[in-house]
Amino acid sequence: MAENKRDYYEVLGVEKGASADRIKKAYRKMAMKYHPDVNKEPGAEDKFKEINEAYEVLSDEQKRANYDRFGFAGVDPSFGGGSGFGGFSQSGFGGFEDLGDIFGSFFGGGSGFGGFSQQSRRQSRRPRQGADHYMEMRINFMDAVFGKTETITLDVDETCRHCHGTGAESPDDVEVCAKCHGTGTIMEQVQTPFGTIQQQVVCDECRGEGEKIKVKCHECHGSGYEHRKVKLDIKIPEGISTGQQIRIPGKGGAGEHGGPNGDLYIEIIVKPDPLFQRQGNDIHVTVPISAVDATIGTTIEVPTVHGKVELKVPEGTQPGQRFRLKGKGVKSKKGQGDEFVEVKVEIPKKVSKKERELYEQIRSGKHASVFDKLKDAFDGEKDNK
Ligand SMILES: [Zn+2]
Ligand SMILES: [Zn+2]
Repeated sequence: MAENKRDYYEVLGVEKGASADRIKKAYRKMAMKYHPDVNKEPGAEDKFKEINEAYEVLSDEQKRANYDRFGFAGVDPSFGGGSGFGGFSQSGFGGFEDLGDIFGSFFGGGSGFGGFSQQSRRQSRRPRQGADHYMEMRINFMDAVFGKTETITLDVDETCRHCHGTGAESPDDVEVCAKCHGTGTIMEQVQTPFGTIQQQVVCDECRGEGEKIKVKCHECHGSGYEHRKVKLDIKIPEGISTGQQIRIPGKGGAGEHGGPNGDLYIEIIVKPDPLFQRQGNDIHVTVPISAVDATIGTTIEVPTVHGKVELKVPEGTQPGQRFRLKGKGVKSKKGQGDEFVEVKVEIPKKVSKKERELYEQIRSGKHASVFDKLKDAFDGEKDNK
């Protein structure tokens, strides 16, 4: 077989120094084109195998280096043999995941490629880490600012202490599956929209595990894990903000076959506050002041997350003017924020008789004369028209 093999780079149509990314892209393109479920031309299946073999070597840094130095002699000569798809399962095939992607979307995640995705399950008796879990936690604005320890109760599946995740009562109770002889897969004729193909499917006897358990663990009834309710103290650090995650190691999904649990990620959602608005570590508040206070200046009390503080509003403060209270914002790992106070000058909607008199007095003063002049100029303009 080795004598008439084509150069792997030639097979994938890439140059010798091609990047890993380029090789992957070329492979995907070729695999799509020559996949036996799609391409019924004579020789397509051989071509498909050739492509996969080339990719297996060129996608693996070590194998590729060996191939570059020694040619076909530098890489494992055993692959490429076998019949049907069986040949692929002989090696730790790098392309399976990719193929799953391609054909998962191609066939709507359905037929044809079951055999590949199950490949990874064939060695599933090995301990494997569980999946990560995600949850959301809504916290109050002030708890986000200052941090808090929140106690939650959680259902966690942890590796069974009796069988260490094997699901068997004792190690002797694990036996090799008679139907698939421990491989976890069997060959099956499958009808596809493109005709009948032979494909590798998961052994229905052992569900791909390659092993069967004679006597199940009496503690976990064979599942390999125990269901436990655990109380967890979640430390919410000061200054946390919406979207940040807290990782709790080992409290995610149960591991398989004695593998460790995945992690738990808690995504924080900070509830809004009616008074304070947060931007990063800075806090923004709006406080109303009267037109008189804005005009002649005053000292007001303003709220901050650290309590009330006095703010001097100078004479001639303009509507929307902002004042900065240094260090009165949120403290986080990124530093210490400030508070920004925006004044909202409120014009009274109604004035008392006494107030009116006082305003009239102001108007008859220096400022009013300026307005009067403007008013006169405006009226004069109108008259000229
Ligand atoms: Zn058990
Ligand atoms: Zn089996």
